[in-house]
Parts: sequence; C-alpha cells; structure tokens
Amino acid sequence: MKYGTRILHNGFELDPRTGALSFPIYQTSTFRQEDVDHPGEYNYSRSSNPTRDTLEKTLAVLESGTHGYAFSSGMAATSSCLAILRQGDHVVATEDIYGGSYKIMTSFFDRLGITTSFVDMTRLENIEEAIRPNTRALFLETPSNPLLKVTDISGAVAIAKRRGLVSMIDNTFMSPYFMRPLDLGVDIVIHSATKFIGGHSDVIGGAAVTRSDELASRIYFVQNGFGAVLGPQDSWLLLRGIKTLRARMEMQQDSAMKIAQWLKRQPWVSDVYYPGLPDHPGHEILKSQASGFGAVLSFKTDTAERARLIMKRVKVWFVAVSLGGVESILSYPAKMSHASIPRDERERLGITESLIRLSVGLEDVEDLIEDLDVRD
Ligand SMILES: *Cc1c(COP(=O)(O)O)cnc(C)c1O
Repeated sequence: MKYGTRILHNGFELDPRTGALSFPIYQTSTFRQEDVDHPGEYNYSRSSNPTRDTLEKTLAVLESGTHGYAFSSGMAATSSCLAILRQGDHVVATEDIYGGSYKIMTSFFDRLGITTSFVDMTRLENIEEAIRPNTRALFLETPSNPLLKVTDISGAVAIAKRRGLVSMIDNTFMSPYFMRPLDLGVDIVIHSATKFIGGHSDVIGGAAVTRSDELASRIYFVQNGFGAVLGPQDSWLLLRGIKTLRARMEMQQDSAMKIAQWLKRQPWVSDVYYPGLPDHPGHEILKSQASGFGAVLSFKTDTAERARLIMKRVKVWFVAVSLGGVESILSYPAKMSHASIPRDERERLGITESLIRLSVGLEDVEDLIEDLDVRD
C-alpha cells in the first residue's frame, strides 16, 4: 500500500466496536477494573487512553516505527526524550535548533548535569570533533530553523552508530509525509505536532516515535512518570488533522516553491533560504533523504526597516509565531522563536533583524505574493 493510502487506511482509522469512521474521544480519567488481580488494557488516562493510544499507533505507522508517544506539546516530547539521558551525559546538537530546544538544553538540562555542544551539522566533521568520552546522544534538526540548513542524516547516523550514540531528530519541518528518518537509521523521531501534523492551528501537541523496544520503554517511563501527556480531545484533533496531511503538504509545498522563486527575483531581497531551490546548498542532500522540501522558507530583506514594513503591511499573512497550519504565517525569528538566543550568538548564526520566516498555507499563491510585494 502506498504512503498516501496508508495515512487513511492503517488499521487504526476507525472504531472497531462500532465501525465509526472517526475514532471516539474517550473523555475519561479512569477505567473500572472488574478484577483487581487482572487489570484491563486501560486503567488510568495518564498511563494510557484509547484515543491517545489510537493516535500513538497512527503516528508510529506514519513514521514507519513501532512505538509512538503523544505529548502535550512538541517541547514536552523533546524534553521527555532528552530525559532518558542521565547525569554526566553529553549531547551534540544542531546549532540553529528551535529556540525552545536550545533553551531547555542550556538552561534546564545543564543544571541536571546533562550538557550540550551545538555545532553546524552541514559539516559532518563538526559532529565528530564535538564528541567527547561522555557523549551519549546526537540531536538533529533538519532542515533547521529558521535558515533551512540541511544535514546529511545517513552520514550523521553512521557517526552515531560508530560512537554508540542514540540519535534523535526533530522532524517537524518535513512532517512524516516528506521525510521518515527511522528509515535512514535514526533512533528517535520527534515532532511538534502543533505544526504540520495537526495542521489547523488549533492544538498544541508533540510526538516521539521509535523502532527500538529498549528506547520505547525508556520514553514511556518518562511519559508516564512526568505525565506530559496529550489529552483525548487534542489526540482526536491530531487524528483528524492527519487525514489531510498529504493534501496540505503537497499544496503548501507547491506554493512555497512559487513564493521562493518570486522572492529570488526581487531586488530588495538579499537572500532566500528554501531547500527546494536548486542553488540551495542542501538541495541535493535533502532530495536524497526526503520526498519533498516542505512549506517553510526564510528570506532576508536589504534593510531591517523593510522587514518591519512588510510585517506592518501584510493583510493575508498573519504575523504570528508557529508554522505548519492552513493559514499562511509570517514570523520574525529575531523577536519570536529565537529571542531566547543571545543577540551576538543569534547574529553569528545569521538570524538578523532583516530575516523573515514564512510558513505557507492554503491561500491562493497569487494573493500571498501580492501581499509581500512592498517595492514602493
Ligand atoms: C514549534 C516547534 C517546536 C516546539 O513545539 P511546541 O508544540 O510549540 O511545544 C519544536 N521544534 C520545532 C522545529 C518547532 O517548530
């Protein structure tokens, strides 16, 4: 069965009891136990809930994994996966990582004795050089946020395997529709399901998927112990969002490509960062490890004033944080997603005050382009 069909027919798409084409929302905290010596499949919704369970199994199918976990946010998923590490462990992570991930690694996990080195993963040698005797994990995010830098996943995984590291990847930008890192050898795939998986800007959620029974039991221990679980209602919203994943990803990518090509021709645009453009440095690598280039792109204007002007004038684009929804969103990384990174470090990474990030939605692309045109 092909992937597009599997999104809708994967064994978990309907309620086996009634045949309902939409899995029910089991809005319950607890379950009656008929026999205390032999508790049933479900006993308490932090540990497991049928709606969340159905979502988790669906997520596992989508990422071609065997164990899926749904969390109350993408950050809960990332934090819970990092929490399988122990004091004294060291992580090597992508340097232009999601701002929240940077913050949790540098201001929370380091307090517990789990430290992180950040490297530019477009050069695999940088990973190798950052590995220490106590390094236990590799944390990738690619294409990275917000500059869409591409890491050679198979190359990074080869290093991780050789050095005995657990590899984790934040696959939010590609969504499982375009990229399935477990097939490339990655151990744990993480998502902010708030973005493309949910797709409608109406739910905060996160996911983690693995094929390893051992890693799965460590993740489940944290999920159940910390309890940052996704509620039944929100699990259902994600199940509904997933049904249109393919249509959204294809159409949003299509428009993103047209917008990138248009931006490229504008004299007031100094740089366009979209891996779908053949001259993007990561174009060929991404093409070899994913089936698409996604719907997020960034660009730099000639001056910071013009970036401000665009944000003030746009009417179709919503100026907001977040991405991956059906509505097009324009965001300003320096003041939004990456505000927690110190200014000097941010500028060094190229996240300047003339950088704008776009998440392309489902509006007519002509309207999206016209709205960005601020030549006068
Ligand atoms: C939004 C985002 C996160 C965090 O997810 P939340 O659902 O907001 O907690 C992590 N990684 C990436 C790449 C994101 O875009």
